Amino acid sequence: MISFQKAIGYSRDLETKDKFAYIIAGFTISILTPFLAIYILIIKSAILTLSALFFFLLLLTVILLLKNRGYFAAKILLCTAILLQEMLLVFLWFSPDANLKYFFFIIVPISFLIFNSEREKERQGIVFFSALSTILICINEFVQISQPKITTTPSLNLLISVMSVISSIGATAAVLYMYEKNISRQHRKLDLLAQTDGLTGIYNRRALIAMGKSLFQQPLDGKNGFALLIFDLDHFKNVNDTFGHSAGDVVLQEMTKRLSENIREKDFLSRYGGEEFALILLDIDPDAAAVVAEDLRCKVEKQAIMWGTEPISITTSIGLSHRDFHPADFDDLLRQSDAALYRAKDKGRNRVEVSSSRA
Ligand code: GH3
Ligand code: MG
Ligand code: MG
Repeated sequence: MISFQKAIGYSRDLETKDKFAYIIAGFTISILTPFLAIYILIIKSAILTLSALFFFLLLLTVILLLKNRGYFAAKILLCTAILLQEMLLVFLWFSPDANLKYFFFIIVPISFLIFNSEREKERQGIVFFSALSTILICINEFVQISQPKITTTPSLNLLISVMSVISSIGATAAVLYMYEKNISRQHRKLDLLAQTDGLTGIYNRRALIAMGKSLFQQPLDGKNGFALLIFDLDHFKNVNDTFGHSAGDVVLQEMTKRLSENIREKDFLSRYGGEEFALILLDIDPDAAAVVAEDLRCKVEKQAIMWGTEPISITTSIGLSHRDFHPADFDDLLRQSDAALYRAKDKGRNRVEVSSSRA
């Protein structure tokens, strides 16, 4: 399967809209197949079979163009080929009773799916093909262009009509489904981006506040106790001044790594500000949280962070508060931890201070 995908130039790294062009071309080939079987086996019409084979050739050309990265040309050819085949079927070959006109509708969601509306040229593709298919449907309603070339029985007309309706609805539903899936995937990506800090990859302040607020929704009934630790690196400005801003960035990334490696999966680490981190320790009492805080402080102090061959020694001050200290809400808990942090700085830095709100 992978080697087949490779042979036609399909890869997961393609732009979503280009991937959709591949999928629609594949879809169209699979919809064409049962019709081709009817032309050959039931209607036994050479002209119909030839026209369907020509359509196959056009679709293969679309795949070839996609493989050679001619995405825009491939998308134009794909829509043109579908409309062309459709026009032959509706205006030349079959009687209106076969109801093949429904296929014209499909081109609207397809053009929305495969053309990238952020690009001017592709946006014009959406407008052009949607307008053209609408015009063709209207022409079909009002103008009888010629007598149908293929004479069919009413029962065959009914069969083609049913197949046409089913495949039109099925294809439209499939296209809309893909569209919806794509939108929700983009939403999830955006959500994640909105909650993530760009430099360190951990949660940002917005995510911390949301998490804290949701924790305060839970009842305080002996369980659900949690601690909030705020870390502030000591004299961090000196790191930037001595080693440069890039070194400062690496220290922040290494600090993130060190903290992440020494907490449990369920704990919630975030970048609270420039050189400040906030850590929520879940299901823990205040004494145990103080032990964890002291342990983390030691782990930061003990091992210098390497900037090339230069060791950069870092220490951190930590302010700790706990939900058992009866903060009014999460903002209040943040204030308690912040006040404790300031005390740690005042007392000489590189230490843990527990909030004075502790009863
Ligand atoms: P203190 O011990 O009192 O906390 O001293 P400090 O130098 O750590 O505190 P201060 O608030 O004076 O300086 C914080 C520094 O953190 C200043 C700022 O340039 C730096 N900083 C903030 N965000 C970043 C960042 O993303 N990258 C780098 N490299 N530096 C940052
Ligand atoms: Mg600070
Ligand atoms: Mg600092």
